[in-house]
Amino acid sequence: MKTDILVVGAGFAGAVVAERLASQLKRKVLIIDKRNHIGGNCYDCYDKFGVLIHKYGAHLFHTDKKEVFDYLSKFTKWHKYEHKVKACLKDVIYDMPINLNTINKFFGRDFDQKECKKYLDEIKVKIKKPKNAEEQVVSQVGWEIYENFFKNYTIKQWEMHPKKLDALVTARVPIRLNTDDRYFDDPYQFMPKKGFTDLFKKILKHKNIDIKLKTDFGKIKEKINYNVLIYTGCIDDFFDKKFGALPYRSLKFKFKNYDQPFYQDYTVINFPNEHKYTKAVEIKHATKQKISKTTVGYEYPSKIGEQYYPVFEPKNEKLYQKYAKEAKKLKNTYFIGRLAEYKYYDMDDVIFSSLNLFKKLKNKI
Ligand code: FAD
Ligand code: UDP
Repeated sequence: MKTDILVVGAGFAGAVVAERLASQLKRKVLIIDKRNHIGGNCYDCYDKFGVLIHKYGAHLFHTDKKEVFDYLSKFTKWHKYEHKVKACLKDVIYDMPINLNTINKFFGRDFDQKECKKYLDEIKVKIKKPKNAEEQVVSQVGWEIYENFFKNYTIKQWEMHPKKLDALVTARVPIRLNTDDRYFDDPYQFMPKKGFTDLFKKILKHKNIDIKLKTDFGKIKEKINYNVLIYTGCIDDFFDKKFGALPYRSLKFKFKNYDQPFYQDYTVINFPNEHKYTKAVEIKHATKQKISKTTVGYEYPSKIGEQYYPVFEPKNEKLYQKYAKEAKKLKNTYFIGRLAEYKYYDMDDVIFSSLNLFKKLKNKI
């Protein structure tokens, strides 16, 4: 087998750089993926009831990067959707991220913003530079909110105490003093009108791009010649885990169909303390599909399974750096994306990083 450019992985990292190289530099690209579909973890599909589901958990597009939004807008129309998440504690529903409403409801108060700030100043733990996820939360909202909304959720999600996790993990979720109940602050919050898989089909529809699914790089690497390799799989896999395996966290998804238009009132309900699953996701609120049935996905964190989340512990970052150093030594080989860079990237970060890789490659390959 022979190709000019080989891209491993048909998620956003691979698809975007493949599209740029094919359309702007007129290079021939072969993109392979070990799965039987394109789209990586953003893949969506219709289940047997005809409901559009997100096979790998709720994926909501949000960005503050106009370049990313403009780029994707070449391939899709959008509908406006601002994501909202609720947390359910003993059958009571709270806004998540923590905001003024959450604090008032949880503590049975009626604070305005100023009073709320004063109260938080009293209850928060004075830590200047939080060193881990526990400190990151208690330094903003104190122990009670941490114990009820964050501690058990984090243990369930990561099978690790928040003390052991990097502060970056919980810092993904803001704490607000106003009543803004959107999950993300970004100015661009939309969903692709016909879904993510349709968007990927359009990105990859180019005469210079060939796609081969159900093809694992590890199994064909000796049999394929290429000039340039762009690799978006796990970086430790690429090096046959020679320094040891990088830990990843996985999820198992259980989907349940209901013969009614909607099952729950919100797209995502988090269960920090109850159930083995962390979230119940009714993505139909976000896809806005018109259909009389609905499907809810339940997310069960798991040690085994596909690699979804890099695990943010200092020792893992050190191990990753060893692989990254090896990767830099390779000629015409580039590592990009959530798995190859071992970073907790959202999709817009990945797209941005792919667009930047293309700019770098333009004058180099
Ligand atoms: P992936 O999408 O993982 O794609 C990598 C591809 O490479 C995969 O298809 C894989 O099969 C393939 N591959 C790997 N190894 C090989 C190999 N050896 N040979 C061939 N193919 C290989 N981001 C958001 O912006 N908003 C959200 O709401 C959001 N929700 C998320 C929810 C969950 C549960 C998860 C896990 C992630 C979420 N993300 C979200 C993050 C988002 O999924 C990623 O940022 C994005 O999918 C990363 O794209 P990628 O191309 O780097 O990786
Ligand atoms: N988190 C939590 N309770 C929640 C939501 C989030 O404790 O209700 C913590 C948890 O550690 C989680 C992290 O914040 O892993 C980041 O949350 P986010 O929603 O960004 O996770 P993701 O969307 O990546 O699953």
